[in-house]
Amino acid sequence: MKYAIIIPDGCADLPIEGLGGRTPLQAADLPNLDRLATAGRVGLSNNTPAHLPAGSEVANLCLLGYDPDRYFTGRAPLEAAAQGIELAPGDWAVRCNLVTICDQIMADFTADHVSTEEATELLAVAQRALIDEADPDTLSGLLPEQWKFVPGVSYRNLLIFRGRPDRPAPFSRQTRTSAPHDLTDLPVDHDYPRGPGSDLLTSLMDRSCELFADHEINRRRVAEGYHPVTNVWLWGLGEAPRLPSFESLHGVRGAMITAVDLLRGIAALVQWPRIVVAGATGYLDTDYEAKGRAAVEALDEYDLVCVHIEAPDEASHEGRHDAKIEAMRRIDEAIVGPIADKLRSCGEHRILVSPDHPTFCATKKHSHGDVPFLVAGTGIEPDSQTAYDEVQAAASGWRLPQGWDLIGQWIR
Ligand SMILES: [Zn+2]
Repeated sequence: MKYAIIIPDGCADLPIEGLGGRTPLQAADLPNLDRLATAGRVGLSNNTPAHLPAGSEVANLCLLGYDPDRYFTGRAPLEAAAQGIELAPGDWAVRCNLVTICDQIMADFTADHVSTEEATELLAVAQRALIDEADPDTLSGLLPEQWKFVPGVSYRNLLIFRGRPDRPAPFSRQTRTSAPHDLTDLPVDHDYPRGPGSDLLTSLMDRSCELFADHEINRRRVAEGYHPVTNVWLWGLGEAPRLPSFESLHGVRGAMITAVDLLRGIAALVQWPRIVVAGATGYLDTDYEAKGRAAVEALDEYDLVCVHIEAPDEASHEGRHDAKIEAMRRIDEAIVGPIADKLRSCGEHRILVSPDHPTFCATKKHSHGDVPFLVAGTGIEPDSQTAYDEVQAAASGWRLPQGWDLIGQWIR
């Protein structure tokens, strides 16, 4: 049996007035998805438990069959995995944004998309002044060598804490933080870290503010009309999740095609190799054909190929339903079609199409709530639905309140 999972990130949406009250999935011309929906079944599932963030980090774990209450530990450990950083038991990863805060308002959670070069230099400054040469009192008895700022890309960086038996991490699952992208244009006063170890994180954030204020990088940025990097914003912390490999759970060897770090991290943790595709950007201009071709080729080598496409989510964050429809049309034409043809030529096969979470063009944000999924292939009896969209999926009457149950029902 060959399997393919296609994840059009954030494609689920609400009816939109400008589309005559249809959702983007209803408005888009998706002949390949409609054919699969007719031959197979559609339904609704929920990958966004109310008590967890409605983000790709939780929703993709659910979609791949991992109960988030058991396996989700935070966003940063998934990003650490994407960077190839191994976390031993007792180690913690903390997401470290470089941000612009003016008068205690989150003016820009990306600091004007600060360049990777500038970010790397500022983190080196922070490492030296806030950790390596800091007054030991400011680290609450922990050692400088336990902390490391790790540059990533642009404003997306990490702080890694290495636990030791005699100096364990001060954090726990009760440590609370706020995602800076949820604070845009809002006061940040009440969103500094709370709970165990939060005083240390808040102190690093405060002291970075003094440190960066007069740095030459900021003087230059302001002179050139860019937002300064006012400080580090620490959030999304966690220990490494202990995920059983996908193969150990389902007996199927998988591989991942994605341009997004978070998905790359999840793939690493479930022990799927990542297939790198030139031209895959994680944006609307991604090379859809190249991703489709890579998936088709990978099906010769692997039992299961998962293709994640970020474009519909990006279009939604920009509030552009026209771009979202176009992204879906391209996915249908260049990815769904070729994969479905390839699977048919393989003999026994199954396909699953589902976004992780909804992203609404109206709010430009991720949302909790159900998403439509589609399953088709060998041994799947068709229902009476003939299209892949939110309305037909709801009308099918098949609903999985725990999205992580879907994979187990789909793989046989
Ligand atoms: Zn997502």
